[in-house]
Amino acid sequence: MDTEVLDKSIVLCHSCDLVVRKRALPSGVRALCPRCHSNLYDTPYCSINGMLALCLSALILYFPANFFPVLELHFLGSIRTTTIFEGAMSVANQGYWVVGAAVLIAAVVAPGLLILSVLMQILIVKYLLHNPFFRRIYKLLLCQQPLLSQLTMLEIYMISIFVSVFQLSDYTDLYFGIGTFCFTMLFIMVIFLQREYHIEHMWSLLDEKP
Ligand SMILES: [Zn+2]
Repeated sequence: MDTEVLDKSIVLCHSCDLVVRKRALPSGVRALCPRCHSNLYDTPYCSINGMLALCLSALILYFPANFFPVLELHFLGSIRTTTIFEGAMSVANQGYWVVGAAVLIAAVVAPGLLILSVLMQILIVKYLLHNPFFRRIYKLLLCQQPLLSQLTMLEIYMISIFVSVFQLSDYTDLYFGIGTFCFTMLFIMVIFLQREYHIEHMWSLLDEKP
């Protein structure tokens, strides 16, 4: 119990073990060790409202990104389109159901849950943190957060799209659909969201408003 209280006001330098008392920093500023100048801690770059804006943009992009065509193939007069969801299902239908499930989880399910989870945390912090029921939900969401952000691997899907585009472009005419644009924007939003999101900061909000 006592160590918990100490942990919040005092920080040890990772390099030289100097004990430094934490102070409130302006946004985007990093505290350096006075003795060896290594990084001690920094403040989150983004306010709760900034994360809310990122979350809402990601949520708006999520549905067109997953259900509109990502690629359009023109091959010998026939036109084929595919969405991320269909791609995962067709891989599963060919017998590679582990691959299909991995794509579904990493590119569709986990990013959706991640966005919803952060959105709920922000709404609870903004309006409902005084309510004991929502405090409990907030704690549960924070405990799940590291797992969700590890499962979210949009970048792997982006890379695989690029690889297949380069391989297929020799044989067919490829066109990017509206889904490609939305998926790329979703990818950027989720990167920024994960960059702004600091789980220690989210935990500390719980102590500020008991
Ligand atoms: Zn130091």
